[in-house]
Amino acid sequence: MDRARTSLTTRWLIADQLGPHFLDGHVDHVLLIESKRAFARRRMHRAKAHLFLSAIRHRAAELGDGATLIRTTSMNDVLGAWVGRIDMVAPTSWGMRSLAARHDIPMLPSRGFITSEGEFADWAERRAGKRLRMEDFYREVRQRTGVLMADGSPVGGQWNFDHDNRLPPPRGARTLELPPVWRPVEDEIDQQVRADLDRWVDEGVEFVGDDGPRRFAATRAEALEVLEDFVTHRLAAFGPYEDAALTEDWVMAHSLISAPMNLGLLDPWEVITRVVAEGERGTVPLSSVEGFVRQVMGWRDYVWHLYWHFGPNYVNESNALDARTPVPAWMADLDASGEVRARCLSTGLRDIRSYGWTHHIVRLMVLGNWALQRGFEPAATTSWFTDSFVDGHDWVMAANVVGMALHADGGLMATKPYAAGGAYIKRMTDFCRGCAYRPDVRVGERACPVTAGYWAFLDRHEERFARHPRMAQPVRGLTRLTDRDALVAQESTRGSATP
Ligand SMILES: Cc1cc2nc3c(=O)[nH]c(=O)nc-3n(C[C@H](O)[C@H](O)[C@H](O)COP(=O)(O)OP(=O)(O)OC[C@H]3O[C@@H](n4cnc5c(N)ncnc54)[C@H](O)[C@@H]3O)c2cc1C
Repeated sequence: MDRARTSLTTRWLIADQLGPHFLDGHVDHVLLIESKRAFARRRMHRAKAHLFLSAIRHRAAELGDGATLIRTTSMNDVLGAWVGRIDMVAPTSWGMRSLAARHDIPMLPSRGFITSEGEFADWAERRAGKRLRMEDFYREVRQRTGVLMADGSPVGGQWNFDHDNRLPPPRGARTLELPPVWRPVEDEIDQQVRADLDRWVDEGVEFVGDDGPRRFAATRAEALEVLEDFVTHRLAAFGPYEDAALTEDWVMAHSLISAPMNLGLLDPWEVITRVVAEGERGTVPLSSVEGFVRQVMGWRDYVWHLYWHFGPNYVNESNALDARTPVPAWMADLDASGEVRARCLSTGLRDIRSYGWTHHIVRLMVLGNWALQRGFEPAATTSWFTDSFVDGHDWVMAANVVGMALHADGGLMATKPYAAGGAYIKRMTDFCRGCAYRPDVRVGERACPVTAGYWAFLDRHEERFARHPRMAQPVRGLTRLTDRDALVAQESTRGSATP
């Protein structure tokens, strides 16, 4: 350790604290730690390992003499041996907070979100036992911050523009025909990262997914470029097509900012401010602006707070639907061998394999829906999502996977399971075109496994959902199926076989 530095205050920045807003107050020096163990612990997507290492190293290079980057196999060892004053911004996971506490590292209030933990706690307390709902939280934050508000009312006279948004893809379209999405230019830091990852592989570290060129922003400058690219070229189409998917358009009108925002390279405030300003210029419809603000100010903050609100055991101890199926190998390996015949699943896997990313509707209504229908074990499914996605962090996966996709918390997060059959996939995507299965067939050779899986899911949980206010109607539909017995028999043998 450099003795000259021991009387100075060092700010330890972890991998998701790489933007300027994590360096406030008195900071003499910055510590960055690159721990091989963090990447080798579980099979992670190669693109995710690359992005994280690239981001850390680019930050170290930007800070120059102002930072020390330590490469290690154990963070514990580095912190145990550290001499001198050190502090950090409260980290984003239970695990890292307990590591910091074990080493008596003072933690500054967390940041990188619109609302503080205290504000959320106040709001939750004021609910006085009533169920927590994202919509209520979102409206309160809009009112408090004044974003998209005029004289105490929502701009445009309504809170939500779902009737303009969430359209199916344009009829017959192969893509949304938007300009090519922003791409970073790799530099020598990326080349070094690639060489190091190759060496780790030779040493026995396993990754999944392709080692493609880096596709996501790893520096603040790149993050600002990708935000600008989104606002200029895709924001206008964001609202209408946020729930649509096309096989040949992996990005659609999405922003690709989750990865840089979760690395701390962009602050959500600046993102919202930029998007709202574009709306005020009149170049994009209010429905798209509101739809986007809702995602960042509403959903993102909400799942962050739920991570702390639900406590450290939420992922491991939630299994309300008694889901015990292991994550199958074809999913764990991001199988691209062509064995997966259901085109919705194979397209989702193809994109995750290539980019470590796919957009929300594929995550929730294709992969999450499949995991829900087939009863995949919640903690293992959460790990699969966390490891396979470049934007996967513990805090964001917990409520999204356990609560939203799998309904494993029994309804704490989402009022009803997001279960859907092939008809939904057919309406909102072009995945069914040329698929080996037919979304309207339940039984037999061409039975769509998503449709059959939907009914089999309802059959399995009929008792639980029969009197559920939002599920009773689908359950009644189940009782009217003439081929119910044959369908249930068919699906009971499908198990975790490749669909
Ligand atoms: C099963 C499942 C897994 C998910 N895994 C992740 C993940 O690992 N990391 C992640 O950041 N998001 C995750 N999400 C939320 C959402 O799917 C992604 O944020 C989004 O697809 C990222 O792409 P984008 O930046 O282009 O987002 P856009 O569609 O352009 O949306 C803008 C931003 O809104 C925020 N956002 C929207 N919905 C959510 C949400 N439900 N939770 C948190 N933030 C949200 C994100 O920051 C996103 O960048 C997951 C959702 C589900 C259902």
